[in-house]
Amino acid sequence: MAPKPRVRFAPSPTGELHVGNARTALFNWMFARHFGGEFILRIEDTDESRSALSYQLNLIDDLKWLGMDWDEGPQKEGAYGPYKQSQRLNIYEDHLQKLIATDKVYPCYCTEEELEEERQSLILSKRMPRYMGKCRNLSPDERKAREEQGRKHSYRFKVPHLTVEFDDLIRGAMKFEGEAIGDFIIVRSNGMPAYNFAVVIDDHLMAITHVIRGEDHLSNTALQIMLYRAFGFESPTFAHHCLILGKDRSKLSKRHGSVSVGEFRKQGILPEALINYLGLLGSSFTEGREVLSREEMIAAFSLERASKSGAIFDEEKLHWLNAIYIRNCENEDFIKRLFPFLQQAGYQPDKLDAQWLKNVIDTVKNDLIKLTDIGGHIRFFFDEQYELTDAAKEILATEGARKVVTTFGEYLAAAQGLPKDLYAGAIKYVKEKTGVKGKELFMPIRAALTGVVHGPELDRVFEVLGKEKAAKRLQQYNK
Ligand code: GLU
Repeated sequence: MAPKPRVRFAPSPTGELHVGNARTALFNWMFARHFGGEFILRIEDTDESRSALSYQLNLIDDLKWLGMDWDEGPQKEGAYGPYKQSQRLNIYEDHLQKLIATDKVYPCYCTEEELEEERQSLILSKRMPRYMGKCRNLSPDERKAREEQGRKHSYRFKVPHLTVEFDDLIRGAMKFEGEAIGDFIIVRSNGMPAYNFAVVIDDHLMAITHVIRGEDHLSNTALQIMLYRAFGFESPTFAHHCLILGKDRSKLSKRHGSVSVGEFRKQGILPEALINYLGLLGSSFTEGREVLSREEMIAAFSLERASKSGAIFDEEKLHWLNAIYIRNCENEDFIKRLFPFLQQAGYQPDKLDAQWLKNVIDTVKNDLIKLTDIGGHIRFFFDEQYELTDAAKEILATEGARKVVTTFGEYLAAAQGLPKDLYAGAIKYVKEKTGVKGKELFMPIRAALTGVVHGPELDRVFEVLGKEKAAKRLQQYNK
């Protein structure tokens, strides 16, 4: 039997967790869970100028919120740690020494300006910009001279002029020509390892079997395979999934709208909905099913099904799924999740009668798309927020409408009973007494009871408002 897969998600904590990266994490996580393997979280924080601890903490929090648990990584140390690259610098240094000893790298003294100049002149002469190897064959004396000038140096890998071929699990046979690739930096002049160098060492030492990541890393993979060979390591299997695109088919970015997990979280998208949506994007499940639980997605997951062409991010579809998950959310749990959103909307849910709040939420739940919608949907249940909109005023402006409303109030004033029966009785009474029915009957009552012209079923609204509140609201039309 093939060994259990070990996969990793290796984010750089340089910003909020983008949905594209969350999807990469999800593919790895589902792959690991599907095959009973291990999912490793590794923080790639060697770019000191761009990495921040706050991003790292956010990222960890977002992954937990999404329910993607890792078997090894920060807060879950395992046999292959540490899992933060900034804590592995000695490992990279040892590996650099190996490449120096086997003459596979060389120090490069070129400055930023010199490199830029070379780049521009290659572009001008219509050649592919790349490093042309200026420092590759410096003599020991030439090196010494540069050192004496106080120049700092990076280390570059001597790219062999060979063809790199590999079989991508999603894209099939891939081929890159070494000749087209310039000697690339593996250790920067500040001593920090470059991405391609650190990632190869880590993936090897952490016994990663499959590298699943976005297709934007395809050309990096060619470089990484060269490094695997230089070290004499066996390469993992690669799978490069398509990227998430905006509606204009360019890579999904801020200008398309919300793109980070944090933003969707703040808007009140449920993690189940986001996970379901991201799992759906760019791969299809059996029988065209679209609403799938984590367990169902794990069971159905296969990389072969992932599409090669870009997946277009459709926020409306995410909203559609979210509304479904809201509807299916068990009530107690749902109210708990709603608490911060209620507070944010200015309510004090802990000071309200729990049963009444539950009734209020039950009444509007099916109309919510995002949790942030809650404030607007429940306003009219609160006297201090009850207020007629212009549309409601317009409806109540006619003599007929007012008659409906006052007749409804008249019944309430005289009748006794449960709200449910009172409502049915009042409607019957108004019908009989005024002869009005349908829209002409219900709209004025809705407008007067809620101040707005759209909302949940009127009988439910009435039940939650209760006789007293309802009667008070109708009283003002008695004049
Ligand atoms: N730190 C890299 C990134 O965030 C990891 C890419 C990879 O999976 O190798 O893009």
